[in-house]
Amino acid sequence: MFLREDTRKVNIAGLTVGGNSNVYVQSMTNTKTQDAKTTVNQIRALEDAGCEIVRVAVPDMEAATAVHEIKQQIKIPLVADIHFDYRLAVECIKNGVDKIRLNPGNIGGEERVKIVADLAKERGVPIRIGVNGGSLEKDILAKYGAPTAEAIVESALRHVSLLEKFDFYDIIVSLKSSNVLRTIEAYKLFAEKSDIPLHLGVTEAGGGFEGIVKSSAGIGSMLSLGLGNTLRVSLTGNPVKEVETGKEILKAFDLIEKGVEIISCPTCGRTNVDLEKTVQAVKLKFKDYKDNITVAVMGCAVNGPGEAKEADIGVACGTGEGLIFKKGEILCKVKEEKIAESLYKIAKEMG
Ligand code: SF4
Repeated sequence: MFLREDTRKVNIAGLTVGGNSNVYVQSMTNTKTQDAKTTVNQIRALEDAGCEIVRVAVPDMEAATAVHEIKQQIKIPLVADIHFDYRLAVECIKNGVDKIRLNPGNIGGEERVKIVADLAKERGVPIRIGVNGGSLEKDILAKYGAPTAEAIVESALRHVSLLEKFDFYDIIVSLKSSNVLRTIEAYKLFAEKSDIPLHLGVTEAGGGFEGIVKSSAGIGSMLSLGLGNTLRVSLTGNPVKEVETGKEILKAFDLIEKGVEIISCPTCGRTNVDLEKTVQAVKLKFKDYKDNITVAVMGCAVNGPGEAKEADIGVACGTGEGLIFKKGEILCKVKEEKIAESLYKIAKEMG
């Protein structure tokens, strides 16, 4: 199996994807790309949240023109998402996009594939093939009878072969399905056959809570297998949430620096403070803290310090107050409403 570090390297505007490079978090705008100003504003919000690659939908020529203006005003690599119309791909490449997402088998023949592949190669623009279980070719679907993992992989390899036929190798592949198990199976199967870097995701995961759980389960499983070079958490709603979730998933697998990690206990009958409120206050206080630190917020002094001994600093709450500790050693006692402030002060002194 080609694991993350065994994949070929693909350059997206100076960002290396694949090989032993980092795993990057990607997102997609949900603004009208034709409205460059609003799209740029959303991309900037995504950048602030830590997004490293951003994709915009390009449904028509107006959008393909707007990518030029968008590209000038953002810092991260810009990907144009194109379906069916190769002319949009050509226009976007000419307008300076850093990567194209398109499925070469769907753009109307090899001649058109060659036009796109040649231009992309000339400009150093990679192409992501994004196979989705919901839109497989009819013959593949007929062969397998359902959008199985094997069917998704066969479709992806067919698209890949179309590009490689024209000596185009700067390819990234995604194999998304809305079914988590099928998605994991498809990625595993593909990684057994190809060294192409993988963009991870569970498509149409839903909004809010369910979407986050589904994406975390699916993407997390694949990351733990050693697969995946970029990822996108697909959530209905504000894409900033996608980036925040993606970053948290990478932190959970030690694939990026943790920054501020706040751990807290689930609370139980021993808890005599509003721990949820205290956790929120600590989160808010540490929002702009720059160094790596683990802060524990524990509900009682009986088990709290012991359970959180790995943390750099923490609090073990009593009744309306908390014992502040550093590396397991008690420092002082503070009132409940002063906990966040005290922890922050100690963290600052340490940093
Ligand atoms: Fe309960 Fe204390 Fe453990 Fe929190 S740390 S779950 S309050 S025993």
